[in-house]
Amino acid sequence: MTIYIEANETTDTAWQDDVRQGVRHVRDLAALPLSPAERAAAQAAATLHKVRAPKAYLDLIDWNDPADPIRAQVIPSPRELVEQEGELDDPIADHAFSPVPRLTHRHADRVLLFPTYQCAVYCRFCFRKESLTSIGRGYTREALEEAFAYVEAHPEIREMILTGGDPLSLPDKALAEIRTRVEAIPHVRLLRIHTRVPVVLPSRITAGLVSALQGRLMVTVVTHFNHPREITDATEAACRTLRQAGFVLLNQSVLLKGVNDSVDVLEELCRELMYRLGVKPYYLHHGDLARGMAHRRTTIADGQALVAALRARLSGICNPVYVLDLPEGGGKVPLGPSYVEAQDGDLWHFRGHDGQSRAYREVVGE
Ligand code: SF4
Repeated sequence: MTIYIEANETTDTAWQDDVRQGVRHVRDLAALPLSPAERAAAQAAATLHKVRAPKAYLDLIDWNDPADPIRAQVIPSPRELVEQEGELDDPIADHAFSPVPRLTHRHADRVLLFPTYQCAVYCRFCFRKESLTSIGRGYTREALEEAFAYVEAHPEIREMILTGGDPLSLPDKALAEIRTRVEAIPHVRLLRIHTRVPVVLPSRITAGLVSALQGRLMVTVVTHFNHPREITDATEAACRTLRQAGFVLLNQSVLLKGVNDSVDVLEELCRELMYRLGVKPYYLHHGDLARGMAHRRTTIADGQALVAALRARLSGICNPVYVLDLPEGGGKVPLGPSYVEAQDGDLWHFRGHDGQSRAYREVVGE
């Protein structure tokens, strides 16, 4: 019951057109301005991870640039077929921490809920691509009931995070059902929605979608912009609609080689997110160990150098936290940069943004 199967708003046709006129199947790659060799390579790579992108997102691609950063995120590359030792099916152990279907409980106070395993776009770098490919199930109320019963039985859970798959690829009716069901659990305080829809299909952010999500709970929408070229008049309008509905907006990006591994690109991305969209840069993720993605991962040392330069340029509100989501479900750990050079009792030595060392002596009362 996703928007690809069942549309529910005959009046909101803009997003439906964006979906229909985009790439929905491997065969649709034939309509893109790819060379025969590029098309054959993309078709081969799409056998391992589904291909999908709305027209609005494809329209951002400069097809004359083989290294275009939007293209790199959605058009399959033959390099995806090259797996490296150490890459994983389930890089952050979602399955190992899944006590019931459609739910992951890794941290005491929050759970991930997977209402669908479908997305509006299939990002080539996705760390959940094995789930999206192998499970491929959509939403039904019954499919989530065991997960809701689990949350009801665990009063320590305060946040429910709808992820996937992309929850905003569901019809309004399904979203309203899920939100109502979450609201019926008194100890849940926050509903989080992790989504790429405002980025890749901004026309889907309609009045109907907003009202489906409005209720007693604080709603936080965590978007996923990776490059400043994704910030357009349409994405600005979508984020304004979400902000004006009273939702808190945060963004998480993935550090991707050849897409955004430059200080200038990250600086522009973070500034435009905060200043133009009103979306707080929240996390910059180091690339997870998803299979076939070595060509898009940077080293951690390169990432630390990038964020050190970024931190010196941006205000605190514009700066994301650079994190690694540890394998085996170890959770997210900040990767720095660290400014501590040494400690000797109550005397600390730090390196400032200007590169100079400075001492700080702690003065603490009894
Ligand atoms: S939208 Fe999110 S879950 Fe879907 S493919 Fe992209 S990164 Fe993965």
